[in-house]
Amino acid sequence: MNVTRTQILQRGLLNRCPNCGGRTLFRQGRLFELNRECPQCGLKLERDEGFFLGSLSLNYGVTLVGFLTPVLLLWYFKVLGDTAAAGLAIVGALGFPVLFYRSSRSWWLMCYYYFLPHHLPANQGRATAGEDQNT
Ligand SMILES: [Zn+2]
Repeated sequence: MNVTRTQILQRGLLNRCPNCGGRTLFRQGRLFELNRECPQCGLKLERDEGFFLGSLSLNYGVTLVGFLTPVLLLWYFKVLGDTAAAGLAIVGALGFPVLFYRSSRSWWLMCYYYFLPHHLPANQGRATAGEDQNT
């Protein structure tokens, strides 16, 4: 295997291509538009409809656990007042998912290839870039 699971984790956390490690997941100059494929290695990044629904769930879960739960705990233990907690929760519930959007896409790809590393073209040898059993 040419690309290890550790490399897949590192590349996913840094929003890089899981196959080659290139900084190519999103179109240059665009914040939310994913490249159809990696310009460096040809890995197909845009998948069938519904593939990235998992990234939305991941984004929701990280927002809930990583932002809203701490705000709730700070409010519960009287560190934050009612108005401050409500305002912070509203702003965070709307803003955090936008800020985390790119990472959630990358993390979802990372999860997919972490559990199915043999689907990466770099680990297949003879297959065409981006070809796997699920596309
Ligand atoms: Zn690549």
